[in-house]
This record gives sequence, C-alpha cells and structure tokens, in this order.
Amino acid sequence: MRPPAVVWDSALLGYDLGGQHPFNPVRLLLTIRLATELGVLDGVELLVPDAAGDEELLRAHVPEYLAAVRQAPLVGWDVGHGLGTDDNPVFGDMHDASALVVGSTLLAARKIAEGEATRAVNIAGGLHHAMADRASGFCVYNDCSVAISWLLDHGFDRIAYVDTDVHHGDGVQAAFYDDPRVLTISLHQHPFTLWPGTGYSAEVGRNGAEGTAVNIPLPPRTRDASWLRAFHAVVPSLLAQFEPQLLVTQCGVDSHDEDPLADLSLSVDGHRAIYATLRELAGTYAGGRWLAVGGGGYQLVRVVPRSWTHLIATVLDRDVAPDTRLPPEWVADVGRAAPDTEIPVAMTDGAETAFKPWGDEVDDPVDIAIRDTRRAVFPLHGLDPDDPRD
Ligand SMILES: [Zn+2]
Repeated sequence: MRPPAVVWDSALLGYDLGGQHPFNPVRLLLTIRLATELGVLDGVELLVPDAAGDEELLRAHVPEYLAAVRQAPLVGWDVGHGLGTDDNPVFGDMHDASALVVGSTLLAARKIAEGEATRAVNIAGGLHHAMADRASGFCVYNDCSVAISWLLDHGFDRIAYVDTDVHHGDGVQAAFYDDPRVLTISLHQHPFTLWPGTGYSAEVGRNGAEGTAVNIPLPPRTRDASWLRAFHAVVPSLLAQFEPQLLVTQCGVDSHDEDPLADLSLSVDGHRAIYATLRELAGTYAGGRWLAVGGGGYQLVRVVPRSWTHLIATVLDRDVAPDTRLPPEWVADVGRAAPDTEIPVAMTDGAETAFKPWGDEVDDPVDIAIRDTRRAVFPLHGLDPDDPRD
C-alpha cells in the first residue's frame, strides 16, 4: 500500500465566517497542533493545496452562484443565494478561501486517482451542505461533490460516500440523487429534530438511481453503542452489494454529546471506533481506497482536536491509544487561550463502544430507523430487509 496523503496548509484557516460564528477555524489549528505534538504526523509530508478553478467548481455549482460569491463582499447584503445570512455571512475573500477548501479535497482525490496514495485525509473539507446555487449551513462550495464529480471523470465508476456528521449530508445527496454511480449514505439526527429537516429513510434516489441514496435518521441522545448498531445494520451490506472502487467519508464530529449545535450523544471513543470501522470497510469493499474529509464540529477545544487527531492517525495506521495523555504543552497553551474550559487530559472520554448487532431480539430505540432504512433500500439492492444476515 502507498503511504497515505495528508493535506494541510495554514491558508485553509482563511475560511473564517468571523465574529462569534460557530464554524471557527481554530478547530483545525488545534487539531494539527495536537496531531503534531503527539507525533502522529512525524515524517509525514503535508500536501499543500491550490484553490480550485472555475472549471472544477462548476462541476457542482451554477455560474450565477460563482458570480454571486465573488461579488458578495463588494455589493453588500442583497446577493441572494443563501449569502449574507446568519449561517453564511459574507467575508472578504470568500470566493478564494472557499475555492481553496475545494482544492484541498480535490488534491486528496487526485493523489488517490493517480495511484500515489491509497488513502488521503483533509480535515478542512466536508462542506456537505452547499447546494448547486446557494450557500447553506456554513458551506459555500461543496468540496465533497466537486471531488466525487472529478473522480467520476478520472477512472471511477462506483463511489460510495458515507456521511457521519450529525446533520444530513443534503448537498451531496442532492448532487447525485439521480446518479446510480454514487451511493450516498448519511447517518444523522432525525430531521424532525434538527436542521436541515431532510434525510428521511424514504429519500432513496430517483430516475434509475433508486437505492443509491440512503438515510439513517437517529433519535436525539443516541449514544455510541446504538449509533454503531445502526451503522453496522445497514452500511456493510450495502457496500458489499454496491462494490465501490473508493470510499469517501465526511467525518463531522458534531455528533458528540458536548456539541452545542445538536443532540446526539457520541464520545471521542465512539468517533475513534467509527474511523477504525471506515478504514476496515474501505479495505474490505473498496480496494483499501479511502478519502476522508472533516465537516461539522463545534466543541472546538474539548472534542474536535482529539477526534480528528484520531481520524488522521487512523488514516495513517498510527492509531493513538485512548489512554494516551495529551501533550502538556498543548494543554497549557489551550488552557491559557480558553481559561473557562476544562481541558481534557487524555485521548478518551472513557466511554464504552462495544455494541450489540441488530437482530438480537432486544429493542433499541434506533431499531425503528434500522427497520425503516433497510425496508426502504435493501430490496432495491436484492437484499432482505428483515433478515439480519443480509
Ligand atoms: Zn454538521
């Protein structure tokens, strides 16, 4: 296997929605610092991205929207396209900073397509809400959709996209809703209870692509064991049937119990278990090819840096043991910068991640989602929704 690719440049911190906006790029900085100080990145050459050009952005966006993003800082508030709202405020170099995020995920995709890496990770990516003609949910341009579109033109016919962010991966689903070459699977908090209000089990794709959109809406307060139970009841079987050549994963960590914007109750240990599972599934079903991007995550100090350090470590096969102590220098610096926050001391929340596989006669609140999702899509893949062996 080729060495994994890690994309990072401090210029990515320029995607900054400003003020008290929850999408604060400090989370990326704290993650890279933590991964560096733990030795996870020792000897790893970080790949520096270029901004994506219009030709690439137009894979996922309409020309009028690109023009609106470019003009937004100049013309003030009346630009439409979801820009200039509380969620998506206009900032000075919005176009360039957003195009750089897309370029960073494209670079990761290129490394895999060109055979220079089997796996690649870009924690700055994962802007899964951006739509063809509008900004949405803190996302200006959709790096996931652009990269998948590019990969479809560069040797890949079957791509699986798995989205573990707490919010529905609506922008990526919309981009490929009628494309049978892309299987999108999103696990998220139930749309009744969380923005953007989509991601029901009944959303399955259309126009010959029925079954290639998959949604697993989970009840609020779902914990690690139940989340993993739902994941394993649906995802591996579909990957086995779909036979992707590449696994793309959006790894938002706003599913954590302490995240201020949502209500699932996962732990850093749960996130670590998810990444190990994604790596294993890429190995089993996608020739080892795995492109991992970041996403949401708004507990900037206590959650994101530890969870995404685990993500980078998992991609690099340098798994960090949960009881690993955080480097004293990182703890001291972050403690000074965030004096009111209790800084964690180890790479664990002390949570138990063992789970009971679905089909065990025990009734778990997530079993409703499992049954609904399996019944909605399994028959479209020739699988029996009611047989736990499928
Ligand atoms: Zn999110």
